[in-house]
Amino acid sequence: MSNWKGYEFLVFGALLFVVFILLALWIGKKAKEKGYSRVGFTIFALFLPVIALIVVLVIQPTQAAQDKSLVKCSQCAEAIQPQAKRCKHCGIEIPLTLINAPSAT
Ligand SMILES: [Zn+2]
Repeated sequence: MSNWKGYEFLVFGALLFVVFILLALWIGKKAKEKGYSRVGFTIFALFLPVIALIVVLVIQPTQAAQDKSLVKCSQCAEAIQPQAKRCKHCGIEIPLTLINAPSAT
């Protein structure tokens, strides 16, 4: 470290800064996906990046975020993950074409 030239330190600092900003933005995006304030978590990450990262990874999604991300099974009408290939409630296999189609009921 001690024999680093000034510009090398600047480049390293700039790179670190960019990574830091991207991390803060990513934490904000992740928080929003889980139903929390994007701006709030981005600011949180700018001050306490490590803690914000841990919090956003372990925090439980809000009920509203969970409901929004789930789709209804066409067979039993239970909420299931949109990525699911088989309903966990009734065991029906879900054709990919039906997942985004409007419900007929
Ligand atoms: Zn089902």
